[in-house]
Amino acid sequence: MPDLAEQDHRRPLRASAHRARVAAAAIARVFVITGPSGVGKGTLIRSLLQRLPQLQLSVSATTRSPRPGEQHGVDYWFLSDADFDERVAAGDFVEHADYSGKRYGTLRSELERRTAAGVPVVLEIELQGARQVRETMPEAVQIFILPPSEDALRARLVGRGTDDAEQIEARLRTAKQELAAQDEFGHVVVNDRLEDAVAALETIVTRELDSRT
Ligand code: ADP
Ligand code: 5GP
Repeated sequence: MPDLAEQDHRRPLRASAHRARVAAAAIARVFVITGPSGVGKGTLIRSLLQRLPQLQLSVSATTRSPRPGEQHGVDYWFLSDADFDERVAAGDFVEHADYSGKRYGTLRSELERRTAAGVPVVLEIELQGARQVRETMPEAVQIFILPPSEDALRARLVGRGTDDAEQIEARLRTAKQELAAQDEFGHVVVNDRLEDAVAALETIVTRELDSRT
């Protein structure tokens, strides 16, 4: 047990550091961007980050294998099932979910080091994760990306060329359930013409950021 002098010496420092973190977190916005696989979330977010460089993307963890060109720590933190379990048990995730037989989650460290510094953060996550964030962070801005049609979604998944036919069918089955949840979201953006969708997204984000300054 530490002696009282040491405790007394440390307590004010800890309290002020905590207050500073809470104050910054209250200013930094969290944007949740969700929608079915293949709708264009990654593509839209890349453009959004170019237009609004003050935004940062939280790098998720997953147990799926890297696609060609994907890098550990840049596109995802690629974890084994055992590592993922360990992180869940340690309470390291803000949210996590199973998706198409693999696991995905937002690491608390990825999110908090940005919000603590006042940096607005984008989470690109699927529906179950978005619902968890809605419960734990109701102040987060939730945006659902819609495809112009189910046929267009299929064409994008096929065109992306990263999933085999079976995986594409599984993603399309999940997409039907996800599309049914669009009314839960405060903002819905249809990704038909890419430029229009990026502009709509930028308007939503800019308004939210301006409303906090
Ligand atoms: P997600 O991150 O939602 O899974 P991606 O960003 O990987 O989706 O996009 C899936 C595919 O659709 C990619 O090949 C991408 O180039 C393409 N795409 C994205 N937006 C559009 C759009 N507005 N019109 C046509 N193709 C698009
Ligand atoms: P992909 O395998 O295509 O990269 O991602 C599959 C799905 O997982 C996408 O809908 C993507 O948004 C979602 N996803 C990516 N990271 C996370 C995360 O950290 N948490 C949750 N819940 N979903 C995620």
